[in-house]
Amino acid sequence: MLPPRRTRAITVRHLPLGAQAPIAVQSMAATQTADLERTLEQVAILEAAGADIIRLAVDSRADLAAMERIRPATDALLCVDLQESYRLAADLAPLVDKLRYNPGHLHHHEPTRPVADKVAWLADQAANHNCALRIGVNAGSFPPEYAQRFADDHVAAAVQCALDHCDLIEQSGFTNFVVSLKDSDPRLVIEANQRFAAQRPDVPLHLGVTEAGLPPDGVIKTRIAFEQLLSQGLGDTLRVSLTVPFAEKGMEIEVGRQMLRDIAAGRFRSVPQGFFDGLNIIACPSCSRVENDSFVALAEEVKRTTTYAADEKITIAVMGCRVNGPGETDNADLGLWCGPRLVTLKRGARTIGSWPFAEVLEKLHTELRQIVAERACPTTGQSGESA
Ligand code: SF4
Repeated sequence: MLPPRRTRAITVRHLPLGAQAPIAVQSMAATQTADLERTLEQVAILEAAGADIIRLAVDSRADLAAMERIRPATDALLCVDLQESYRLAADLAPLVDKLRYNPGHLHHHEPTRPVADKVAWLADQAANHNCALRIGVNAGSFPPEYAQRFADDHVAAAVQCALDHCDLIEQSGFTNFVVSLKDSDPRLVIEANQRFAAQRPDVPLHLGVTEAGLPPDGVIKTRIAFEQLLSQGLGDTLRVSLTVPFAEKGMEIEVGRQMLRDIAAGRFRSVPQGFFDGLNIIACPSCSRVENDSFVALAEEVKRTTTYAADEKITIAVMGCRVNGPGETDNADLGLWCGPRLVTLKRGARTIGSWPFAEVLEKLHTELRQIVAERACPTTGQSGESA
């Protein structure tokens, strides 16, 4: 049995969330929403897998036009990810059951309008159309003021940002919302959710490890966080973010449900000491912003061809788009982010260059071998082995 939760009850259309409601399992379409045919196909895959809520990203009028045709085509509970175009919420709220905004994306449009006004406006849109809201805080995209104020403490930045946005929404009298605090490191996800819940035990939580990557590593990372949090009564809905091919997206739901069954039955998986010490490949689960279908194959190739560095404490981030990819690779030792034709390679925050998909792996290996050599022999950058 999972322990009882202390959160308040909210609803996503007819679905109760929070309090003692069953923990909802959700996923997100990894398509460009404006591609109506593929998006409907992806929604059908997720519905067939048993998704309680399906999220779609909307960033343009073309996506909005697609949403107007998707809504009558499915009974699924739909959540829309507002990404950077928060003002589209006025047109989207009548079509969906839940709106998700990222506090880190509110400053891009109308930069002089106070964030408090924007949040109050979003709460009004949700209230007027009987939608739920999610405050989706993501370690890869904090609002600038939190990134500066808590430069060395990601968890404190995430928690404070979430707390402040709860206050802003509640000032409008709106309480039908959940909070998520995501990071690619499950240990930080655990800490952030625990610290937030200690201050706001009443606010329902959406759990997730962002950019968990390819299975099985992505499943293991997610399980580490979910086992700790769900067994403490924290978590009202969850998403397992996996980098998997289009047709296999239902795996996110199946894995989520299996984890819930295992944790409820006390079947915990131990993680060996040193699990976090070696090569860490993080990859986004992809979404509507991916402009190249080779992204998942690229992530798989990175994993397959870097086994020679398996024992190195190096993080490689593989991101699907040019919108979030540049920022979300800054903290990795090596980063790859995909544009429509080229993939950009970074070392830390520094851009090395951009190459076609077929060529970028070789460039990645050059940099990876150099890092390994530098660490083996820091003064010369040469490996310590004799020739
Ligand atoms: S990095 Fe880009 S493509 Fe990947 S999930 Fe984030 S927004 Fe979507």
